[in-house]
Amino acid sequence: MEGFVSEEQLRSSIDAEGRRHKVQPADVRGRFARVRTLLFPTLIAIYLALPFIQVGGRPAVFFDLPRRQFFLFGQVFNAQDFWIVFFVLSAIGWSLIFVTTLWGRVWCGYACPHTVFLEGVFRRIERLIEGTREARIRLQRAPWTASKIAKKTLKHGLYAVLAAGIAHAFLAYFISWANFVELFRDGPRAHPVTFTWAVAMSAVIYFNFAWFREQLCLVICPYGRLQSVITDQHSIVIGYDTKRGEPRGKVSDPTAGDCVQCGRCVAVCPTGIDIRNGLQLDCIGCSACVDACDDIMDKVGRKRGLVRYDSLAAFEGQKTRWLRPRVLFYALLGVIGLGAASVAAGRYESFEASLIRATSTAYILDAGTVRNAFTLHLVNKRDVARTYRVSVQASPHIAVSPEHTEVHVGPLGASRVTILATAQTAAVAPEALAGTLNVTVLSTQGQSDDRRDLNAPFLAP
Ligand code: SF4
Ligand code: SF4
Repeated sequence: MEGFVSEEQLRSSIDAEGRRHKVQPADVRGRFARVRTLLFPTLIAIYLALPFIQVGGRPAVFFDLPRRQFFLFGQVFNAQDFWIVFFVLSAIGWSLIFVTTLWGRVWCGYACPHTVFLEGVFRRIERLIEGTREARIRLQRAPWTASKIAKKTLKHGLYAVLAAGIAHAFLAYFISWANFVELFRDGPRAHPVTFTWAVAMSAVIYFNFAWFREQLCLVICPYGRLQSVITDQHSIVIGYDTKRGEPRGKVSDPTAGDCVQCGRCVAVCPTGIDIRNGLQLDCIGCSACVDACDDIMDKVGRKRGLVRYDSLAAFEGQKTRWLRPRVLFYALLGVIGLGAASVAAGRYESFEASLIRATSTAYILDAGTVRNAFTLHLVNKRDVARTYRVSVQASPHIAVSPEHTEVHVGPLGASRVTILATAQTAAVAPEALAGTLNVTVLSTQGQSDDRRDLNAPFLAP
């Protein structure tokens, strides 16, 4: 895509031999940094609290994989409801693509958990223990003295503790609050599988935040790789105003552009790129370079915005077009996804009932009778126990058993009822034996529409 730079420039944190440059971003202050400083603790609190906040007596978000039940803000879904989740996920996915088409990588820079924890927690700890960018670079190059060992041990010790904490918070999305408490009370021996997961996840999280860092965005994240097809010349991205900035030179040089070659935009970049080389896939839209350059412009008495949020079209001197075919298309898909998710949620049923022919044979001939056997399968999709009133009716020559019964099903449980339908072959002409079985299931605690009517043909020779 026009505006994106060459492959060599893309791998800013890896040298020609494939060795990694450790990126040590400088601190930055400014209006966007302030927004992120306020936003990150809020998002961290939300990410960590969601499995522990109770909505309707259940965690706000809880994926109970062994039971194939999902709890989302008071609503309970089971495996049969997965089609609803599909529509919800597609609505979220298309909405994210819509936002990206308009405003580029705001998700990456401001809300992605990787960015939020890396910038909001791990880099802050690093800054506290090892100091500024310059001090960290000096420490990196310094021999292994007692002071360096102490600093590195403290930093990585804290990282390990935090990684374990984040891993447990993440696990809490998959194990109930009660199990979570049990885990700590009983210790690893009592829960070896969960413990193994916790250790493995802690190790992955530690590795990611202690070492892998920006490489996750650069080489693993599929969303980052999709930018060149989602955004276009009119998407708002972070860019450098070449017309205004070039040729670069000293403040005192009257022939130079506005870029004073200070390098601050590169020094603060968490992925180690130079935004002046053009829009790059490695730019996560964190806006650190915008704040850094604005600060320099203030100091040299020039207008802010040499590096700024704008469209590539605007950087070329054209007008930004907000309404474009791809924006409308993604909006339409998002609305369709949302609409389908709303309709699906509206059709959400409190229980499921299905009537299944019980044996592999269509009917059983036995001592002058023909018998059909069925299984009524009831699934209670509420997390409170329910009683269901079952009534069975059939053509006059067919006897049913049971005619009426009540079935108690526990919270989110299931139950089966065997229904037999029998006709005397001697009493009825063979052609009149066929008929229909009607089963009505009524939830005794439910609304008037908590009723299912099922039927199946009565089969005879
Ligand atoms: S180029 Fe700027 S916005 Fe992009 S990642 Fe680097 S500092 Fe952040
Ligand atoms: S911070 Fe601004 S002035 Fe300094 S090098 Fe970057 S673009 Fe040029």
